[in-house]
Amino acid sequence: MSAEHKPHTRAKRATAAVHPRPIQLEDYRAGSRTDLRIPLSLDSLANPVTVPFVVVRGRHPGPVVGLTAAIHGDELNGIKIIHHVLDRADPDNMHGSLLCAPVANVPAFQAGQRRFPDDERDLNRVFPGKADGTPSQQYAKAFITTFLTSCDYLLDLHTASEGRINSFYVRADLHSEQTRTLALLMDPQIILHASGGDGTLRNAARLRGIPAITVEAGNPNVFHGRIVLEGEQGVFNILIHLGMIRGETTRTDGPAPVICKSSKWLRLRSGGFLQTKFKLCETLRRRQVIAEINDPFGYQVETYKAPYEGIVIGMSHRPVAVPGTRYCHLGVIGEPPPPKQAQKPNQPDQPDAPSPARP
Ligand SMILES: [Zn+2]
Repeated sequence: MSAEHKPHTRAKRATAAVHPRPIQLEDYRAGSRTDLRIPLSLDSLANPVTVPFVVVRGRHPGPVVGLTAAIHGDELNGIKIIHHVLDRADPDNMHGSLLCAPVANVPAFQAGQRRFPDDERDLNRVFPGKADGTPSQQYAKAFITTFLTSCDYLLDLHTASEGRINSFYVRADLHSEQTRTLALLMDPQIILHASGGDGTLRNAARLRGIPAITVEAGNPNVFHGRIVLEGEQGVFNILIHLGMIRGETTRTDGPAPVICKSSKWLRLRSGGFLQTKFKLCETLRRRQVIAEINDPFGYQVETYKAPYEGIVIGMSHRPVAVPGTRYCHLGVIGEPPPPKQAQKPNQPDQPDAPSPARP
């Protein structure tokens, strides 16, 4: 009888629960790469839900940079960015370490969906999680314990959600010089000021004093070649800036990133067939007609105007729409006000007032 076919003893069953502990960098040889599969949870057959992690421990001491992708299970570009970074990273010549979670939300990834399947929650709204919480909260807690506690910096890689497309943009707290610098080094098209973002991994990092940015790189369910390459270069710019690898930071040929102090998703009030009249990264004038809705008979039933001047950060690409559908993520260009003013409560009764960004 093979070892696999032996009946489990009671003692073995008793050890089946998952007890996460931090990945300790010093457990790995300096100048090496190690691929890990670490159980963070159990499925309904009590099988371990193992999550892939990669430790690249540089030969020389230095900071630990964490890279996460697919916290939303259908957001793939970040996975490819991490693969490219791992291909190029040379632990023998690195000061510090990379700690990568290329598929952070394994249950959602395997289900091919954005949300955590066991409770249909958005994992990036339940961090730092709870040891005795909902399925997604327990998973989030295990992820924080295993991964985040070992990081000095965090780059969390995302894309747009299903049905929408994004520019290449970064969410960062622009009141912090450290995160502002990280955001600029990514060299995106747009940088959106976002101080907190309850329940996000970025906020969990911020509360632990770990400088963190969210990178929104393109669209879900695809590997978008150009954005992957730009994201890879952005990560390398950060590693060079932190002194982890040698080299010169580089910029794309495109214009410098546009800074936005706030943003808002514009929503439709009617249903029907949506036709948008703008492109990603286009600057819209206030009162410019930006969308129209046609009914099933083909008649135009409503037009929409830009409520304020701004730049298009993201947009819907689905023509079929119902009232409430988000159709344009419009950023307000400019530096955020100083922290005291920025912490004033929002005024939700003013429909035209864009609010501070949420991830
Ligand atoms: Zn996401």
